[in-house]
Amino acid sequence: MTFRFINSAGRSALVDDHDQWFDLERLTNGAVPADPMAAIANGAALHAAAALLATAAPDGDLATAELQAPVPRPRNCFAVGLNYRSHAAESGMDLPAQPLVFTKFPSCIVGPNESIALRSGSADWEVELVVVIGTGGRDIAPADAWSHVLGLTVGQDISDRALQFASKPPHFDLGKSRDGYGPIGPMLVSTDSFANPDDIALTCDVNGVRRQSDRTSSMIFDVPTLIAYLSGIMTLAAGDIIFTGTPDGVGVASGTFLKPGDVIVSSIDGIGTLTNHCLD
Ligand code: ZN
Repeated sequence: MTFRFINSAGRSALVDDHDQWFDLERLTNGAVPADPMAAIANGAALHAAAALLATAAPDGDLATAELQAPVPRPRNCFAVGLNYRSHAAESGMDLPAQPLVFTKFPSCIVGPNESIALRSGSADWEVELVVVIGTGGRDIAPADAWSHVLGLTVGQDISDRALQFASKPPHFDLGKSRDGYGPIGPMLVSTDSFANPDDIALTCDVNGVRRQSDRTSSMIFDVPTLIAYLSGIMTLAAGDIIFTGTPDGVGVASGTFLKPGDVIVSSIDGIGTLTNHCLD
């Protein structure tokens, strides 16, 4: 059964079709732990718990939930650069022959509506589909890859361009990992909720202006290819997440950077929206 998982005030919860939320430890009499990282390590229990929602009493409206990152402490946080042709073109860079993988250090991960304290005048937006591994493994074949994915969420790969390119060759990791530069959420939506998880629409608006709009089917290296590639190098584990790259429309291409007061609204069909206010 499909599910929509949230982290409300540090506790695992599910959301039903009427946008009511249910604390998972209470709903399952302790079978699903309150800690979101422990809960997402047992996908089968989450699918089973979703079947209980129809007859259970909710804990509240989704609007009252205190949303935090659905995966608050990922073990590994991979990210993929230049994974849409349109974005590689606007960046003036060659298409990668292999996935261009870097790290967003897990300490940058924050909740879906966290404000972002800008640390420089060169911060930029990148809406991305984020894959959450549910079943780990090594040498995962592309045909099996989706079965290792617990679900999908929205991510903003906030990028300090000056820091990203401060060294040669560039060190993407640091420029992508300032405190708070990795909002994710609002929900972790189970993979089986999507008619085609390889073709999902995503958008990013800044101050009400549409800056990015594409579909994940435009990726150069699709999700199965990324999982096969990464798992061929290291063993993936439940709670690892992958930022899968951003389409064109980032600020640096037009010399536009985030400034205090800006509002970034990032949405993916079937998952939801991140709203992040930029602060000084
Ligand atoms: Zn990115």
